[in-house]
Amino acid sequence: MSVNVCGRDRQAIIDPLVTCMPMGAMWAVLGVNHGIPLVQGSQGCSTFVRYHLARHFREPIEIAVSSFHESTAVFGGKKNLDISLKTIIQRQNPELIGVVTTCSSEIIGDDVYGFVDSNKQELKDLGYSGTEIVPINTPSFAGSHFTGYDRAIDALIKNLTVANDHREDDNKINVIPGLLNPGDVNEIKHMLDAMYVPYTMLTDISETFNSPLNPKKQEHPYFGKGGVTVDEIKNVSASKGTVSITKYAKTGAETLEQTHKVPAVIDNLPPIGIKGTDEFLKAVNKLTGYDIIDTLMTERGLTLDLMADVSARYLAGRKVVIFGDPTLVTGLTSLIMELGMEPVMVTTGSDEKTFPTDIESLSKHQNIDVIIEGDLKIVEDYVKDKDNGVEVILGSSEARFINYDTGIPLVRFGFPVYDRVGYHSQPVVGYRGAKRVTEMITNEILAKYYEEKHWKLQQ
Ligand code: SF4
Repeated sequence: MSVNVCGRDRQAIIDPLVTCMPMGAMWAVLGVNHGIPLVQGSQGCSTFVRYHLARHFREPIEIAVSSFHESTAVFGGKKNLDISLKTIIQRQNPELIGVVTTCSSEIIGDDVYGFVDSNKQELKDLGYSGTEIVPINTPSFAGSHFTGYDRAIDALIKNLTVANDHREDDNKINVIPGLLNPGDVNEIKHMLDAMYVPYTMLTDISETFNSPLNPKKQEHPYFGKGGVTVDEIKNVSASKGTVSITKYAKTGAETLEQTHKVPAVIDNLPPIGIKGTDEFLKAVNKLTGYDIIDTLMTERGLTLDLMADVSARYLAGRKVVIFGDPTLVTGLTSLIMELGMEPVMVTTGSDEKTFPTDIESLSKHQNIDVIIEGDLKIVEDYVKDKDNGVEVILGSSEARFINYDTGIPLVRFGFPVYDRVGYHSQPVVGYRGAKRVTEMITNEILAKYYEEKHWKLQQ
């Protein structure tokens, strides 16, 4: 029916649901083959991100930092950047360094573009010209981690992509996956591979954040595995179109359209659930002309079969609270409604203007409370209010204490998930992802609301 949009009723944020811009930028740079993020700021700005990423993905994460101290705040960060760039290039010789700014370097007014330009010439004179250096502005006070990701993708395109008059790669498309897990990126690849669509993933963390342990094949110096190559980024202008899986990382796609006439397709609804996946595949089909083949239709059918099996019996009408990044929350809201469940409250930690309208477009038969710039305290208060009748929470591990206090099942989605294993390596996108999400939610509901001794009666 409608959404009831409201904000926080207090200034202070208690347990934020978003983290800072540099993290999103680092995530994007780590998806480049032999790419290293260099944080132009103090050590904490890199340590906290490494900690956050390492506990979610359980992988080693390589991030460099130019290590600001008190004197840097007075004299600026040029010297720190000069030394850092030379040190990284001499020791690691990476393909790409993404110079990620922070609150401190932005506030003191570091001219990072100027610093990088002067370094490029100096490094060339010293015989080091094989590393691309891309400045990425991420003042954390101006946005969230997904804004940082968006800016990084855009900066990579603006700084690296070259003109391509001929469309060499006839039906190749670019895909901007957003802050998805390795299991999701692999699922998108699986769908495109199944349709024989060639693609460039901008950028690709599917192996970086999910690497096999194989000491004999360990590179020295260490780089995360996989990733899109710098050459591939240079040539994304030759593609037939760019699909941005999330509207919150669309700027790069728009830049490619404006500067290189590569059509942009922005997914308002991410490929989470049946409708979202249908729309994604139709968009790919429209761009490339490649058919949506039977293998994918079989996966769709299997998912629908499971949904039909469990929806009316266990899930229909159950009240759900969802929190996290807007892309995930929008997609999960759509899937939850396909299952006949009732999303009663959704929130993200940011102030995204179109988020309420996206939720409203999904809420045909239901009233949904949409909280703008929410925090974990709002989630807690809402769940603990018995009048709201919440039966399931979908969100990150941060809500585990709400689960301990109330006993209401928390099905872990989003970022970070650190108190369960395996979440990041499996998909929530695509038909197979929808099947997995349905299984996860149903199993939690069965464990909580269906007693073992009455099992036969309740089947
Ligand atoms: S909010 Fe600012 S100071 Fe804090 S970690 Fe992020 S960039 Fe660094």
